[in-house]
Amino acid sequence: MKIKLLPSTFDERGRSRPEQRLTCYLVDDRVALDAGSLALALTDPQRAAVRDVVVTHPHMDHVATLPIFIDDLFSQLTSPVRVHATDEVCEMLRGDLFNGTLYPRFHELENEHGRVLEFAPFETGQEFGVAHLRLTAVPVHHAVPTVGLVVSDGGATVAFSSDTSQTEEFWSALDRLPRLDALCVESSFPNSMRELARVSGHLTPETLAAELSKLSRAPAEILVVHIKPSFRETILAELEALEIANLSAMETGRVYEW
Ligand SMILES: [Zn+2]
Ligand SMILES: [Zn+2]
Repeated sequence: MKIKLLPSTFDERGRSRPEQRLTCYLVDDRVALDAGSLALALTDPQRAAVRDVVVTHPHMDHVATLPIFIDDLFSQLTSPVRVHATDEVCEMLRGDLFNGTLYPRFHELENEHGRVLEFAPFETGQEFGVAHLRLTAVPVHHAVPTVGLVVSDGGATVAFSSDTSQTEEFWSALDRLPRLDALCVESSFPNSMRELARVSGHLTPETLAAELSKLSRAPAEILVVHIKPSFRETILAELEALEIANLSAMETGRVYEW
């Protein structure tokens, strides 16, 4: 399985900048997990191939360019873009994003081939298929209804915490997996901002370490994401100080393969 954390911004030579402002992972050039930078960072072949987007929660940094992605493709789509999310999140996307004010109600519109956007609700705790992948969504603890994801291609398995503060169900789900090749997990704020992290539903390096200790065996690789750009240097130093083997900040624009 190939996974890329899409960059949010580029330098003057077009290279990915390391700071992550938006969240969107591209899996096997075909499935998007969240859609923060989806419309900004795909190559043309990827744009032509991605028709499934799994949304963990409706926060803007995770859905910002989903409407633009569909808009870009509107006349070319021969099958709809499928947005996979819980019923609750689908409802929020219809009411708060594709609501005819912020952007068109794409789920009610058609091009000459048919619908351009279809919501595909999933249940938490039950495996479901997206393209060639098997996914399980597990509720995590954030400011709005949010799920973490376990994604498998039949060989490798990778888990994504999405945005979360202290949580339980996600870690016990990971403990039950026969294999876990990598975990992409958030650490948004520095340790000094633990109270803000707690009320906004995020982790700090310190609380991340406490969460990881809930696992009975460590994932082969731990990639830290969602590091707030303004505190990046401090958070990176605090992550380093944890001295956790196989833990590093996930690089934007790099293709990881398991
Ligand atoms: Zn969030
Ligand atoms: Zn976020």
